[in-house]
Amino acid sequence: MPLQIVHHPDYDAGFAVNHRFPMSKYPLLMEALRSRGLARPETANLPDPAPACWLKLAHAPDYVEQVLACEVPEKIEREIGFPVGPRVSLRAQLATGGTVQAARLALQHGIACNAAGGSHHARRAQGAGFCTFNDVAVASLVLLAEGAIQNILIVDLDVHQGDGTADILKGEPRAFTFSMHGDRNYPVRKIASGLDIALPDGTGDAAYLERLASILPELAARARWDIVFYNAGVDVHAEDRLGRLALSDNGLRARDEMVIGHFRALGIPLCGVIGGGYSTDVARLAARHAILFEVASGYA
Ligand SMILES: [Zn+2]
Repeated sequence: MPLQIVHHPDYDAGFAVNHRFPMSKYPLLMEALRSRGLARPETANLPDPAPACWLKLAHAPDYVEQVLACEVPEKIEREIGFPVGPRVSLRAQLATGGTVQAARLALQHGIACNAAGGSHHARRAQGAGFCTFNDVAVASLVLLAEGAIQNILIVDLDVHQGDGTADILKGEPRAFTFSMHGDRNYPVRKIASGLDIALPDGTGDAAYLERLASILPELAARARWDIVFYNAGVDVHAEDRLGRLALSDNGLRARDEMVIGHFRALGIPLCGVIGGGYSTDVARLAARHAILFEVASGYA
């Protein structure tokens, strides 16, 4: 079974090329996956937009309604980092539906990835930090509500701390949040995860991978996990505009291999989401995001 990939053309909300959020990375990622033979008709899965009843499991009902109606107050739009018009609203619903679908495919096949997702700064009350809806938190709560699974582990290796996911899932004992991130990165006020590891600027491949290798067995042993959500943000890369951890391409690949290999060796289903990545060279950025899919395809 080839790696199942969830994607929708409307993941790209069509921002101007010079926007601080590199929206064109979504189509370029798919191009990279096609050129690597990973995106093919038999690996393609088209998500439906997440319905309001799913979104409201994780987010305040009034905020969900504001996003669906494209009537988000300006103050919140400023915190998100862009206005929430029809295309942004649709992409947020699709990316969230995509992570739910990828999680279901992971439960079915052992592993699957969404070619978007990892919007981990969206809190229960509102979006923030380029994140409108928290797809991983929504997917976790949908699967729990359906009784599909009992124990969820979230491994968030985006360079930024997973404050929104921690906020939404803090009262949910069946979901455990782990975030390893740059100490001096956004958000300034972090919301405590189940376990947080804050790394110093310029950490680099060796120290990063050593820390990760030491924590994975402990995470795996905490419960009988039914699924792992893996946020494979590439903003840990040395050339990322927003990251500070100085990983190389090889470091990224070793990281993904370590995480995916660890949980798949234990037979635990894994749902990958791409997380953050910010670079003016969007083609190279897309190639960095493609590493997750290259590694994951080795376990499909
Ligand atoms: Zn990030």
